[in-house]
Amino acid sequence: MIQTASMVLRTGTKLLTAAIGEGAPRDARILMAHTLGVEMDRLTLELSRTVTPTQVAQFEHMIHRRAAHTPISHITGKRAFWKHEFRVTPDVLDPRPETETLIELAMQGAAPETILDLGTGSGCILACLLAEYPDANGTGTDISADALTVAAQNLEKVGASDRASLVQSDWFDGVSGRFDLIVSNPPYITEAEMARLSPDVREHEPHLALTPGGDGLSAYRTLAANLGAHLAPNGRAFFEIGKDQGPDVQRIFADQGFESVSIHTDLNGHQRIVAVNFP
Ligand code: GLN
Repeated sequence: MIQTASMVLRTGTKLLTAAIGEGAPRDARILMAHTLGVEMDRLTLELSRTVTPTQVAQFEHMIHRRAAHTPISHITGKRAFWKHEFRVTPDVLDPRPETETLIELAMQGAAPETILDLGTGSGCILACLLAEYPDANGTGTDISADALTVAAQNLEKVGASDRASLVQSDWFDGVSGRFDLIVSNPPYITEAEMARLSPDVREHEPHLALTPGGDGLSAYRTLAANLGAHLAPNGRAFFEIGKDQGPDVQRIFADQGFESVSIHTDLNGHQRIVAVNFP
């Protein structure tokens, strides 16, 4: 039977809607665009195309994976963030739009010569900053060697490999020297909140990247205790936080002697980024 992309998409959308409800039509369109090898904004124009039996099978396979809550990024292997498209695997946290707020804030100050991204994961933050600052050098750390493999590929994608070094390290452990700009999107979900996360996140993204357990604040305690030894004079630091953690995280940095600590909101109006200046 000759089938058009539009017919196959309609069947897939129905199946996916029954499984995951809201979001299904958009997800099905992303998977069809991926099957056809076209950009999303071209999809409507391509829907009258005939699809091969192989393409139908590929699309149906992806629809079934999505119906079982596999994140779209794990199926397509990529995710758009800031001005780039990054490679994503189950070994790294999926870059989130909220994290773009961190990039925006970091870019408001003087151009840094040295950048440190702690818990770099996919490397998305470091890669974006190095792409924005072509004269800067950067270091990315992660405790996960598998995450660092993905980060290396993403630094390559933005053409920043020669200005970046990646270190397998528990926060500041393997890091020496001082940096003009220090950033991190550490794991901050509390143990209690983990149970309430959607299965897409809880069962498919690395727990290590999502939660430090307990009250969700332990990474900030480690970051605050070591920041003074690694921030350059006039340096700035930006940390992503959970929307209810602002006051706690502000206090954690204040307790370590940082007087200039401010909290900034994301596009949804949630407190999302803590900015800390050299004392
Ligand atoms: N820095 C990466 C990101 O923002 C990974 C963060 C993490 O794994 N907690 O997406």
